[in-house]
Amino acid sequence: MPNTGSSSNNLPATPEVGLPLWLLAELTYRCPLQCPYCSNPLDFAAQGQELSTEQWFRVMAEAREMGAAQLGFSGGEPLVRQDLAELIGEGRRLGYYTNLITSGIGLTEQKIAAFKEAGLDHIQISFQASDEQVNNLLAGSKKAFAQKLDMARAVKAHGYPMVLNFVTHRHNIDKIDRIIELCVALEADFVELATCQFYGWAHLNRVGLLPTRAQLERAERITNEYRAKLQAAGNPCKLIFVTPDYYEERPKACMNGWGSVFLTVTPDGTALPCHGARQLPVQFPNVREHSMQHIWYDSFGFNRFRGYDWMPEPCRSCDEKEKDFGGCRCQAFMLTGDASNADPVCAKSAEHGIILKAREDAEHAHQTIDELTFRNERNSRVIVRS
Ligand code: SF4
Ligand code: SF4
Repeated sequence: MPNTGSSSNNLPATPEVGLPLWLLAELTYRCPLQCPYCSNPLDFAAQGQELSTEQWFRVMAEAREMGAAQLGFSGGEPLVRQDLAELIGEGRRLGYYTNLITSGIGLTEQKIAAFKEAGLDHIQISFQASDEQVNNLLAGSKKAFAQKLDMARAVKAHGYPMVLNFVTHRHNIDKIDRIIELCVALEADFVELATCQFYGWAHLNRVGLLPTRAQLERAERITNEYRAKLQAAGNPCKLIFVTPDYYEERPKACMNGWGSVFLTVTPDGTALPCHGARQLPVQFPNVREHSMQHIWYDSFGFNRFRGYDWMPEPCRSCDEKEKDFGGCRCQAFMLTGDASNADPVCAKSAEHGIILKAREDAEHAHQTIDELTFRNERNSRVIVRS
């Protein structure tokens, strides 16, 4: 990837590389739950050995030296790592703002207290639904909902700012009012009502998960009504509503631009510009073999889609490319087979019909929750073998 030169409308071909402000540490792909919309790779069961505690220490230290300020611990379920408190402690020592992104399964009052002691700043707990039965069906665990409720209460009791995250889709979005009521009752500081984005297992299950336009519009309207009510009541709870790309006419500025702010390290040490990028036909560096400095500034993978010179038409000569960078490379690859193409979410893309067809399919879909393919080791191994 050339580092100099100009693109068609005098933008630098590769803008000056920014700092990797956000480090996402995907500590493990192990997880006791099996959400059918999980963004982990379909072949997670075949991935290599997890990084050791010391290897994570080095990753965190090098990224911090390069300017990283936010550190997220995710997975899989990060709580299955026995060294999580140690990793949090090291993150704090290095000066990061640390965030634990968890399903709440495996969390205990003692762990919450130990993480606080280690310096954890923030906890995000994900729920599958506001209804116990649907939540447990989607999670694949009969105890999940009760455990999540207990842990959300415990997180608040220990004085953490708390984000509750609900991935919404056609099977739970009609209960958006109950979801919001539950979050308010749990005293969440922020509620992320994130309509499913179609990567990993969600892409596999798209027909059974994509809501209809009517479902989405209703949910957004109700969310806005609750926002107004909460504000009028002086309740500080903030509702964040994320629409799915599939109902947009322009793509999102994915990761704020390839290799511009985000740096993800996967359980086996593969470094990625976003957590979905592993599926792309691009060689990505591994932290076992390279310094973070090399990975961020010099590796082929992180430079592959920086700047504008890689873009074919219609993005190349488009006057909106500085806003969205051509959209999501993973979505372009999954839907068109070529990661360089414009994200087909864009109405200017020749492949936008794929998105229109998906919306149309959503109007007629009738898959039940039982018919979805759940994210678990067995299904992952079947996918690897096929
Ligand atoms: S989305 Fe569900 S299955 Fe995937 S890591 Fe999170 S809790 Fe586990
Ligand atoms: S053509 Fe490309 S750059 Fe222009 S709006 Fe669409 S995706 Fe963005």
